[in-house]
Amino acid sequence: MTERLFDADSHLWSFTARVTACREADGKYEVELDRTAFFPEGGGQCGDRGTLGGVRVLDTVERGGAILHICEAPLPAGSEAAGEVDGALRFRNMQMHSGEHIVSGIVHRLFGYDNVGFHLAEQVTLDFSGELSAEDIARVELLANEAVWANIPVTARYPSPEELAGLEYRSKLDLTENVRIVTIEGVDVCACCAPHVSRTGEIGLIKIVDAMRHRGGMRLAMLAGKAAYLDYKRMCGQAGEVSAMLSAPRDALAAAVRRALGALDETRKQLTDAAFAAARARAEALPPTDGAVCLFESEADPAVLRELVNLAVPKCAAAGVFTPCEGGFRYIIGSARVDLRAAAKTINAALGGRGGGQPTMIQGSCSAPEADIRAFFESFPVG
Ligand SMILES: [Zn+2]
Repeated sequence: MTERLFDADSHLWSFTARVTACREADGKYEVELDRTAFFPEGGGQCGDRGTLGGVRVLDTVERGGAILHICEAPLPAGSEAAGEVDGALRFRNMQMHSGEHIVSGIVHRLFGYDNVGFHLAEQVTLDFSGELSAEDIARVELLANEAVWANIPVTARYPSPEELAGLEYRSKLDLTENVRIVTIEGVDVCACCAPHVSRTGEIGLIKIVDAMRHRGGMRLAMLAGKAAYLDYKRMCGQAGEVSAMLSAPRDALAAAVRRALGALDETRKQLTDAAFAAARARAEALPPTDGAVCLFESEADPAVLRELVNLAVPKCAAAGVFTPCEGGFRYIIGSARVDLRAAAKTINAALGGRGGGQPTMIQGSCSAPEADIRAFFESFPVG
């Protein structure tokens, strides 16, 4: 049985231990020690990384009661090895995990909801068994940060089965022995195997960054500690850039963006109106003909192009409008005299195209060069 040094001291990054076993598995090596400060994956927290005897530890897992250090190279059984835990990664995980206990404890106390899902990755994701309003979440977040500022001790111990039986705590398991109870006085009591910060002040900051309804309850995403700071830094950077672009103060960006989007909408509307007016003028200017008309346009709005075709159709046997696209042109062809649905096959074959539609209008794309398209329309109508 490996002595779990991280249980007694969650901030122990350096230690020495004896190698008790080393097995090859999938090109890596599973190393067991007589004692370790490497926390194995558990309770939603990932396994520690670092080095052991100078060899990289890629992960730490618990299997059948044994703590396995997944190493890049073998370590001789019986040898002494110096262990170095990646303290930055572990401390980040502890800030997030302890922060999660605080939030879950407060939600449980205020609303009676259970934490029914916990995942620690880039963010902490936590699922609660009941719904929370935006006001509820804001209240929980403030109380959580007040618990951080109060710098409350975080303690872990293994109560006797008798004591455990009378204890109120979250994450109740069926186990009665060797249940590790993590207590944040006045905030949370929870069964948990993971290492935590020593005092809540180490967490620094707790920020709930997202919330959504989930399976009849609530899923929250939160950040704590350095991860929350880095997120705040990133958000300040983004806000600063947008603020400079819109010449608006950072705490009034939403109103400034709304105004800018409103102005953009108005401009788009004016552009569309102008495009329709231009299409009408273009159709107006077309001389009537018994032949077909073929127009090459740069306008991209399909509604405008259809309008142009519809207005051109009464003045000719058929009207085709072509706009450039990747690999050739998009086309809309209209006619009141030719059954275009029946003619589509011939037209597509001649233009290297694909598409179809109604007897009075077909749409599609083609790859023929402009000169070939113009030549084809010279000899319209077809079949
Ligand atoms: Zn926990």
